[in-house]
Amino acid sequence: MRATAVVTGASRGIGLAIAETLVHAGYYVVGTATTEAGAEQFSQRMAGQGQGYVLNLGDQSSIDAFTTALKADHDAPLILVNNAGITQDNLAMRMKPAEWNAVINTNLNGVFHLTQSFMRGMMKAKFGRIINISSVVGRMGNPGQVNYAAAKAGLEGFTRALGAELASRNITVNAIAPGFIATDMTDALSPDQQTKMLERIPAARLGQPKEVAALVQFLSSDAAGYITGETIAINGGLYMG
Ligand code: NAP
Repeated sequence: MRATAVVTGASRGIGLAIAETLVHAGYYVVGTATTEAGAEQFSQRMAGQGQGYVLNLGDQSSIDAFTTALKADHDAPLILVNNAGITQDNLAMRMKPAEWNAVINTNLNGVFHLTQSFMRGMMKAKFGRIINISSVVGRMGNPGQVNYAAAKAGLEGFTRALGAELASRNITVNAIAPGFIATDMTDALSPDQQTKMLERIPAARLGQPKEVAALVQFLSSDAAGYITGETIAINGGLYMG
């Protein structure tokens, strides 16, 4: 029987590439979107190899509804990819409490609450893989992103502590910190910002979502069973911290 993998924010960008790669690797993939239409589109795209659900990580009642529906519909997932994330950029001097809170709630608090609900199933199965998608910004910092940098740095600390808690159960917890990857998030940058960004990347190109997905596939595998608590950079040399 195929193991179930859950990928949050799977309707587009890096999450969609991860979902497609995991399906190709033989998993049944549950993917989330913030809307019914996005969830339905995901189901159609997976053509029987996966199913879409609605999830808003900034809303505890949405997390509860998702985990309840998942329990009713599927075996306990053994792979959880916490991919969904948002930005609401502003200089710290001007950042509104709502901008700070939205990013911390979605990118950090929501990840904790969702992950907690998966632990029991993984413990019972004596196997689990939790993979958190962080960002180079969590280590490097970036002007205008104090909320995002704080959430991603927090996510990396969460990864280390949870990795230590779950290692003896054969559950690994790792993070991936991408640099600039070609998605809607980077498309939103102005041409001037994009040129400046490329000048800073030694590989002189953006990363592709599939390159991040390949690393997720490896960390999900049996072969990666002795790697835990790590944050692995994938950034074309932008930051070698
Ligand atoms: P994206 O193209 O903007 O897609 C974001 C995904 O997250 C979508 O599926 C979206 O669903 C979902 N989402 C948005 N708000 C949500 C919420 N409140 N609750 C649950 N899901 C939500 O993002 P991406 O560029 O692929 O980034 C994916 C991850 O990689 C993020 O954690 C991001 O921080 C990280 N990352 C990206 C880059 C990059 O260069 N792109 C670099 C470093 C790290 P809808 O389609 O329904 O809106």
